[in-house]
Amino acid sequence: MPETIQETYADFCRRQKAGLLIVDEQQQKENDDQEALRDIHEKRYERKYDLFFDNLDLILRHREEILATPRYANIDAHYVLGGGGLYVGELRTARQLNIAGTLITFNLKLGTVLKIWDTDQFRARCECGETAVIRHFVGSPLSGGSSATAVCPKCKKKTHVANRSFGMYYFYVKGMLDDDIEMVVKNLIGKWTVAEVEHQKKVAEGKCRDPKIAQDFKGDKETCSLETMLQELRLKEFKESGNF
Ligand SMILES: [Zn+2]
Repeated sequence: MPETIQETYADFCRRQKAGLLIVDEQQQKENDDQEALRDIHEKRYERKYDLFFDNLDLILRHREEILATPRYANIDAHYVLGGGGLYVGELRTARQLNIAGTLITFNLKLGTVLKIWDTDQFRARCECGETAVIRHFVGSPLSGGSSATAVCPKCKKKTHVANRSFGMYYFYVKGMLDDDIEMVVKNLIGKWTVAEVEHQKKVAEGKCRDPKIAQDFKGDKETCSLETMLQELRLKEFKESGNF
């Protein structure tokens, strides 16, 4: 019970008898549900993380196609990169904003992760000769020192990468998330503008009985998950191999 709520023993008995919960108990139930959801999300992203890196070679082979296909490039890939540093805290690859009571989550996108891996800062040479990509880094913005882990798409071996500029990791990813947020918001504004035009057209044609712009406000038709994309890419390679 919060310290601010004073309840006598007699009041407590009366309330219990009536089966009434005080607000704090309801809040506890909500907190428990939120925690259970967080557990499910955590397990889900651990599974996706493993799936992603098990298929890293497939993903990198189709880099160009992914970048050229919005439903692939826009897949949430915030869990792919991790790390953080002294003073600056954990690397944030997702940001949630409360807009008029509606929570909007912005995630680092798959196409953006692929672009991050284009930079020398996020690449390393694997023992096998292949180029590995950095998926985790820690360090300090003061000393600038860092320690990172790269993973190889070919042999799956992990390579330790020492002492590259921490700021070049951390602030680069942060800036790329900002770009993704800007892209989504501009997209949203664009879609609302289209809806306004559609609406005005209907009004002008006398077709509009219910003057609500929101009726013409539409999102992208297609969404795609990592799982769907991997399946589509595998099928494509299978067909191209001539075995189909
Ligand atoms: Zn390798």
